[in-house]
Amino acid sequence: MLSPPHEGEGPLTQVFMDITVAYFHSLFHPECVRRDFEKIRAIGAGSIVYAIHEQEEQRWSRDFERGFHLAQEAGLKVYLSLGRFGNLFAGPLTVPSWYTFRHPQSQVKDRHGTVHDMTCFNSEDFRSWLFKEIEYYVTTYPVAGLVLDEPCVPNITCFCSVCRALCPDITDLQHFRRRSMIEFFDKLFSHAKDAQPCLKTAIVLLPQDFALVDELASISALDTIGGHLFWQLLGEDVAMVERWSSSLVKATRRANKRSQLWLQNFNIDKQTEKALEPAFNSLVKAEPDDLACYYFWRNNDNPEQVWQTTCNLLRRIPRRQLYWRRPAISRAPVAPLVKQEEIAES
Ligand SMILES: [Zn+2]
Repeated sequence: MLSPPHEGEGPLTQVFMDITVAYFHSLFHPECVRRDFEKIRAIGAGSIVYAIHEQEEQRWSRDFERGFHLAQEAGLKVYLSLGRFGNLFAGPLTVPSWYTFRHPQSQVKDRHGTVHDMTCFNSEDFRSWLFKEIEYYVTTYPVAGLVLDEPCVPNITCFCSVCRALCPDITDLQHFRRRSMIEFFDKLFSHAKDAQPCLKTAIVLLPQDFALVDELASISALDTIGGHLFWQLLGEDVAMVERWSSSLVKATRRANKRSQLWLQNFNIDKQTEKALEPAFNSLVKAEPDDLACYYFWRNNDNPEQVWQTTCNLLRRIPRRQLYWRRPAISRAPVAPLVKQEEIAES
């Protein structure tokens, strides 16, 4: 068993602006993974997000454990994203939830009795299974944090037997579902932190769900609220990134949570590459606590170029602002961006 990470190790206690990189790649080839992690560390990242799908750990626990060792060696913390557990969150693979597949009785049922392809988060059996899984991960591996990516915000009112029993007033079921989702996150994160008190927790939302931030504020066990500002994927002009960034950072501060803004550096064609810089500038302008992006993620026209551009942009953040050079202050104002040449000179 690996030792869990401890808060206060070395100079990493106070965070100013973190850089987080999603690493959605195989852990099977250790030398490749080591090289990748070193590259990620070299751009100033302090953490990676690794996504696990339900059935994976059982089949490659050695690779998984080795991945954590390699991340530790490179000086990277590992945040674990629960990929598509119960079909309730996003994940890098478009595989259906194994749990939902094997427990059809747990599925969301609408007013017409039609079942939907996700488990109801009020299902006691599901909660008990999920919380045990989380407990296992955070006590077996040195997981620094837990991430729920793009949780399915309910647009279907669930009429399953559990929901009906918990909320006998049918006219209140719709609101009940939203309330119980917040309660579900609260229980999930509280349980995870009970199992591993050093654990950090995060929820990452799509812009259309930013209204949820005010409700998420009530969850004391939730540390970070992130935004997937995927302008290209959502068919918006890159100018929207500035508006989304500002609105999310303001809302997270109101909610007394950390903010994390994600750069869409995937699914980028030659034309869209030009928009990476204005998108990045919009993220930084909002002064988030954490900037996040992807390591060689899917469907770029020129993967190498997109990664290089991402690195160049991230290197513009003055080094003194990165947490490992700035141990004492959190959430100080962001200094203006400096050009690449100035960094080289300093
Ligand atoms: Zn239900």
